[in-house]
Amino acid sequence: MQEQQATYNTQLYSRAVGLLTKFYGYRSFRPGQYEVIEAVASGRDAVVLLPTGGGKSLCFQMPALLSDGVAVVVSPLIALMQDQTQALVANGIPAAAIHSNQDEAYNRSAMEAAFARKLKLLYTSPERLLQEFDYWKRLNISLFAIDEAHCISQWGHDFRPDYTSLAKIKEELPEVPVVALTATADRLTRDDIIAQLKLRDPYCLLGSFDRPNISLRAYSNPGMKPRMKFIAELVKKYPQDSGIAYCLSRDGAMRTHQALSAMGVRSVCYHAGMSAAERDRSMRAFLNGDAQVVCATVAFGMGIDKSNIRWVVHNNMPGNIESYYQEIGRAGRDGLPAEAILFYSYGDVITLRKFAEESGRQGVNLEKLGRMQAYAEAKVCRRRILLSYFSEERDCDCGNCDICRNPPSRFDGTILAQKALSAVMRTGGTDIGIFTLVNILRGARRSDIVREGYDRIRTFGAGADLSQQQWNDYISQMVQLGVFEIAYDDGNHLRVTAYGMKILKGQATLALSTYVPPQPAAKTKGKAKAIIENVPTDPVQQLFEQLKAVRTDLSRKEGIPPYLIFSDATLLDMATRRPADIDGMLQVNGVGEKKAVRFGKRFLAAVRKFEGLAASSPAGTSLKETLILFNAGESLGDIASLKGVKIGTIHTHIAQLIEGGFINTFGSFISRKEYETIVNELQSNPEGAYDRLKEDFSSGIISIARAIGRVKGVLSYEKSPNSTLE
Ligand code: ADP
Ligand code: ZN
Repeated sequence: MQEQQATYNTQLYSRAVGLLTKFYGYRSFRPGQYEVIEAVASGRDAVVLLPTGGGKSLCFQMPALLSDGVAVVVSPLIALMQDQTQALVANGIPAAAIHSNQDEAYNRSAMEAAFARKLKLLYTSPERLLQEFDYWKRLNISLFAIDEAHCISQWGHDFRPDYTSLAKIKEELPEVPVVALTATADRLTRDDIIAQLKLRDPYCLLGSFDRPNISLRAYSNPGMKPRMKFIAELVKKYPQDSGIAYCLSRDGAMRTHQALSAMGVRSVCYHAGMSAAERDRSMRAFLNGDAQVVCATVAFGMGIDKSNIRWVVHNNMPGNIESYYQEIGRAGRDGLPAEAILFYSYGDVITLRKFAEESGRQGVNLEKLGRMQAYAEAKVCRRRILLSYFSEERDCDCGNCDICRNPPSRFDGTILAQKALSAVMRTGGTDIGIFTLVNILRGARRSDIVREGYDRIRTFGAGADLSQQQWNDYISQMVQLGVFEIAYDDGNHLRVTAYGMKILKGQATLALSTYVPPQPAAKTKGKAKAIIENVPTDPVQQLFEQLKAVRTDLSRKEGIPPYLIFSDATLLDMATRRPADIDGMLQVNGVGEKKAVRFGKRFLAAVRKFEGLAASSPAGTSLKETLILFNAGESLGDIASLKGVKIGTIHTHIAQLIEGGFINTFGSFISRKEYETIVNELQSNPEGAYDRLKEDFSSGIISIARAIGRVKGVLSYEKSPNSTLE
C-alpha cells in the first residue's frame, strides 16, 4: 500500500484532496478512486466498474476539475443528467446539460458557456453528441465520460443502439481520454465496452460489488395481501425515507399503487404507459419526499441518485441477476442499512420464460433467468450467489441475508464437489453442461454419453447414490457458491473456477445445504411484523431524525430534493459530531464550503436546539418511555397517570416526538379542527398568536399543533411565535 502511495504524483494528489474537501466535503478518496483520477488526468483511458453507490461520479468529475477545459459526459437518461448537474451546481461546480427536453435557447446558452470556458462538465445524450459531433469537437474537451457504459453491449440487459456509435470519439479525438463507467460487471459486458469504445490500454478499476449494508431476503409466493401488508410495514418502519416496489407489469404497478394508497400509504405509480408529464410528476413526488413509495416497472430508476431509499421490494422476480442487482442497488446508497426483499412465484417464472423465448436471444436469456431463479430459491448465502455471479468469489457467508440468519442444515460437500469437478475436468474442462454432468455422475448410459465416451471416464457413476434432483440441487449450489461458472457465450457449459480448482486439489472445503424436496411455502403470517424493529431512541438517532426534518423543511422552501441538500450519511455524521459552528460543520463528512455557507446555519440551529433540550429536560429516557407507552396504544391521559406527571408534560413530549419524526399519525390526540384553528392563527397572525390561542387551548395542545405544522412544512422552525416553549 505504501509503495503504491510513493508512486503517486504527489502534487496532483494534494490538489485532488484539496478540491475533494472544498467542493464535496470529503476528506479522502475511496479505495481505487484516486488511481482512476490520476490515470485519466494524465491522459489515459479508463474503465470503472463499481456497484451503484460505489462512487463512480468522482472518477470523472475530479479529473474534470483537475484539467483545463470541459468534460463531456454522455448519459442515457435526461433525469440522470439533471440530477447530476443539479448536484454539481449545489456543490459550487459549474455544470450544465444539453438535451431535447428543455428549450433550445437554454441548450444554446449552455453551449455558449462551454465555449466561453465557463463550465467544467457538460452532460448530453449519445444521440445529441453524435449528431453534432463536428461542432462539439471544437470545444476544449478535457475528457469524455461514458456513463452507464453497459448500454453499449448487446450482452447487457439495457442495450442502446446509439451507444455503439460512440467509437467515433476515439476515432476522431484519439488523444482525449475516455472513461467508461458502469455498475454492471459480467465479463462479456466488460470486454465489450473496451472493444466497442476502442479504448487503448485502459486503466481498469474493478471494485468490489459487495453492498454489505443491503440486507437480502426472498419469500416464495406469499400472496397479494401479505405483500401489501409487508410494504406498509416497511413504510411505517422508515417514515422519513422512501422505497421502491418493483412490479413485472404496468398493471401490477397500478394495482400495487392502489392497494397501498387504500392502506393510507403515500404512494405514486411509474411505468412507461403513463404520459411523460405524469411520470415526471411521480418522479418529482418521489425525489422530494412527498411519496413514500413508488410502485414501478423497470422503467423507473436508472440513475436515481436519491441517497435515502431504505428498501426495495420486488413484487415479482426480475428476469436476470444484473437487473435485480442494479434495482436493489438503488437502496442504501448512503451506506446506511437498507433492505432488499424479493417475492417470487412460479407464475413469474412462466411469464419471464415467455419473454425470454420471444426475445430473440433465447439461450442467453433463459440461462440468465435460471440463475435468477436459483437466487430466489437459494439455500446458501444470497450475497455469495450475487457476488459469484459477478465473478467475485467469497469464501465466507455474509451474515446479512435470510439464509445466514436462519440457516438450513449443512453438511461437508467437499467430496461431492470433487466428484463433480473431476468429472468436468475429465470431459475436457469446458465441454459439458449441468444436465450431462448429472448423467455422468449418476452413471446414466444415455446414447449421447456413450457416443462421447463419457461412460469410460473414472467418475462415471461415482455419484449413483444420489438422485437426479439431489445432484441438480447440489450442482446449482456449487454454481451459486462459485465452484463453477456457466459460460453463456459457449453453449452454457460449466467452467471450473479458481476456487473450484482449490477444492479439487484439497486446498479448500465446501459446505452444502441438505437437499429438501420443494414444499408449499410456509404461511407468512407474522413474518412481516417480526422484521419491524423498534423505533430508535438513542440521542444520535433522535438528533438525526430532527436534522432530517430540517432538511425536509429546507427542501420545500428551496425547491430542491432533500438528498441534494445533504445525504443521510452526512446527517448521521452531523448528528454524531454535533458541530457547534461553521468550522465544526466543515468537519462533517459531505459538507463542502458551498453547502456549509448555504445550509449550515439551519442545521447548526437544530443541533443547538437539540442540545438545549437534551440538557434541560431529564427526559431522554422519559421521552422514550412516553413513546413506548404511546406505541403500545395508551391514551395520553393514561400515560400521564402511569408516569405520575401532568398531561401538559406528556403533550410536550408528544410534540417533541412528532418533530423528531417518531410519531406520524395524529388523529388520536388532536382533532383536525383544533389543528387547523391553531395553525391558521400561528400562520396568519404570529404576533401575539400564542396568547390569543391560550384562551381556548392548553399550551401542550398548541405545541403539538405547531409540531405537526412544522413536520408538514406548513410552519417554519425559525420564526417561532413562542420561544419560551423551546
Ligand atoms: P455511483 O455513481 O457509483 O452510483 P456516486 O458517485 O453517486 O455513486 O457516489 C455515491 C455516494 O458516495 C454519493 O453520495 C457520493 O457523494 C459518495 N462518495 C463518493 N466518493 C466519496 C468519498 N471519497 N468519500 C465519501 N463519500 C463519497
Ligand atoms: Zn448471507
